[in-house]
Amino acid sequence: MTENRYNIYSVWLKKRYGEKVYKIPVNIPVSCPNRDGTKGIGGCVYCGAKGGGNETLSDQLSVGDQIERNIAYIGKRYHAKKFIPYFQSFSNTYCDFANFKKWMLESIRPDVVEISISTRPDCITDEQLRFLETIKTVQAIDVTIELGLQTVNEETLKIIKRGHTLADYEQAMDRIKAAGLLTCTHMILDLPWDREEDIIMGAEILSRKKTDFVKCHSLYIERNTVLKQWYDDKKVTLLSKDDYINRAILFLEHLNPDIVIQRLIGRTPKEDSVITNWNTSWWKIKDELDAQMKQENNYQGRKFTGLNNMR
Ligand code: SF4
Repeated sequence: MTENRYNIYSVWLKKRYGEKVYKIPVNIPVSCPNRDGTKGIGGCVYCGAKGGGNETLSDQLSVGDQIERNIAYIGKRYHAKKFIPYFQSFSNTYCDFANFKKWMLESIRPDVVEISISTRPDCITDEQLRFLETIKTVQAIDVTIELGLQTVNEETLKIIKRGHTLADYEQAMDRIKAAGLLTCTHMILDLPWDREEDIIMGAEILSRKKTDFVKCHSLYIERNTVLKQWYDDKKVTLLSKDDYINRAILFLEHLNPDIVIQRLIGRTPKEDSVITNWNTSWWKIKDELDAQMKQENNYQGRKFTGLNNMR
């Protein structure tokens, strides 16, 4: 590893694509099986009205139009030439195959080097995987599937009403890897029901399943969510910023140093959130985390024992 204390995504992007690459959020009219009654009603306890999507255009615009508009803006502002359409809100594989195929194909253009699709571990079909494998080969682009896992503790998964198990995640990872696609795993590092052992176990399981990327964020409270009600009723106490930073470092230390960190702290627009990131900007928290790692000489993989020595 270079002077960076963890494997930084922007460095990976530059190495892979030869220059800076920008993500373009894309919104398609999908919901989530954990909200509509298929797996659960109302969704995960922290899930807000936008289903994890921010800064997106209306799903009434075609995929092509959304990408065109965003690239016109971002391309001009940052002199960007390469892009990754990012299907972000809700579960982007929760739709019929004809629509899925149409939306994915609409997102590909000469300046697109990768597409990234966010979904649940229990919500991806073999047909979709075969199609994405073909796109990858025929169009010569990368395809990343982002899976929300959040915690490896089965009890916590139940408490936050994820509606899937750890085994669902492990099986999905095996299937996505077998299709030759890239994988990104989303984790919440400060779930109050998790203990430090769960954070370590999380890093070990993600390393064992060979996720290519990780995105972490803190537990934030959005309006009109079950979590907001629990918070008001004093049924849940959030961890502190220092706790988050300590857990993030613990996680990184046990993670395979080859895994690329896409994000260590999330950004949620203030208008949607009641409590987020301890009212501190994400970059200040990241600066604190970086400073603590330097001071304590911590780095990603310091306590990683190798894939052959895993539990
Ligand atoms: S899986 Fe995602 S979109 Fe579905 S309820 Fe949970 S957070 Fe919301």
